[in-house]
Amino acid sequence: MYPDETSRSARLFRRARASIPGALSRNSVYFPPYPVYAAKARDCRITDVDGNERIDFVNNMTAIIAGHSHPAVVQAVQDQAARMMGMAMPTEIEIELAELMCRRVPGVEQIRFANSGTEGVQWAIRAARGYRNRSKIARAEGAYHGAIDCMETSQLQQNPDTWGPAARPATTLNNRGIPPSVRNDVITIPFNDVQATKAILEENADDLAAVIVDPLTGMMAYAQASTEYLQMLRDFADATGVVLIYDEVMSFRVGYSGAQGWAGILPDLASFGKVMGGGLPIGGVGGRKRFMEVFDRDSGNYQVPHSGTYNANPMSMAAGHAALTVMTRDRFDHIAQLGDRLRTGFRDVLATLGVPGCVQGAGSMTFVRFGHDGPIDNYRDMVELPNDMQTAFDLHYYLLNHGIQSVEAIVWILNQTMTEKEIDFAIEQVAAGLKSVRSKARATA
Ligand SMILES: *Cc1c(COP(=O)(O)O)cnc(C)c1O
Repeated sequence: MYPDETSRSARLFRRARASIPGALSRNSVYFPPYPVYAAKARDCRITDVDGNERIDFVNNMTAIIAGHSHPAVVQAVQDQAARMMGMAMPTEIEIELAELMCRRVPGVEQIRFANSGTEGVQWAIRAARGYRNRSKIARAEGAYHGAIDCMETSQLQQNPDTWGPAARPATTLNNRGIPPSVRNDVITIPFNDVQATKAILEENADDLAAVIVDPLTGMMAYAQASTEYLQMLRDFADATGVVLIYDEVMSFRVGYSGAQGWAGILPDLASFGKVMGGGLPIGGVGGRKRFMEVFDRDSGNYQVPHSGTYNANPMSMAAGHAALTVMTRDRFDHIAQLGDRLRTGFRDVLATLGVPGCVQGAGSMTFVRFGHDGPIDNYRDMVELPNDMQTAFDLHYYLLNHGIQSVEAIVWILNQTMTEKEIDFAIEQVAAGLKSVRSKARATA
């Protein structure tokens, strides 16, 4: 049973505290009183260090899409490891992954690789600055764009005391590690507010290098940028020359042609990561040749030198190429159908049990929020609408003890090895879990 202070996970967590501050190198995998330690995984199932098996609805925060240790990915990685793992020379597999991305993603004519989504965002921003010879970046309040300084603003800690008027959100620093000087380079825009965003952008057009937006925002309950919003950004970019960047590090997995193919309005540049690496570390920036030329020594507009010891390392290239090759259009359709089934099932459960809650998402990504019936359209909705965290917390415990791993019962991510059987099992367990949580709450009331 979880939690159990005598379990091997609990003991590993206590042991790690001595050598690792907070016991972890990755805050996002923590939940109290201790996270479950993984031993192995296959397809959509994870076995923890105490021998418990669970269906994995986390999939490494969306990075796994073909499935854990998919045979084709394992084969590609093993072959590559046996041949060579990394050297200061380019390899053919880099070109193969680049060509695959250019074939699939309509706005990607060229792409450069790095090692994390954070770096993908970093290099997209740097390319935009090189192209425009300006430094300011406009970003949406509440959106997550990785860990570079100028993107660590106006998120989780942004609250009604600090955030200013809705039509003109303040730029707050995420923590004391972020220098106040980033405020000079960041303009905060209200997600999905067309008129207010347009006004802010037009006011700052002369100083802006880029506006960055995620069409499907993981940190805002998978709120989707409206067509009007994206079209306004596209028109603004066309009128001013400000570079439009999509952060598709997570939202790329929404479909075969990425978030931009799904949204139907193309950016100038896009940052990538997560599934593009097939489970190994990766990042990248891709887009129109005109903008990507800033990386090209021979283009006549070379502005941005780009290097990195592990850029385009053949292990990540091989894993990414193998995983995306598994992900044909049919496999994307398959997980999108399962995603719809999961969302419909969850909504039915909430309605039947009379539990207030909203279920949002697209394709293989789903967000559940307890406490109100939704929708959540932007960051202020996330903060201001009722949020019943206790139900999510209790349900998460229940699910851990009933064969299901999710991101705290809130975020549900699918991989292509799943079938209706796993989806229906999750729906049944959420129904049973909510009943159990509620009868417990009544007993203690
Ligand atoms: C995960 C993520 C990042 C950062 O990617 P890392 O590989 O964790 O550095 C950036 N943007 C979005 C939208 C993400 O989901």
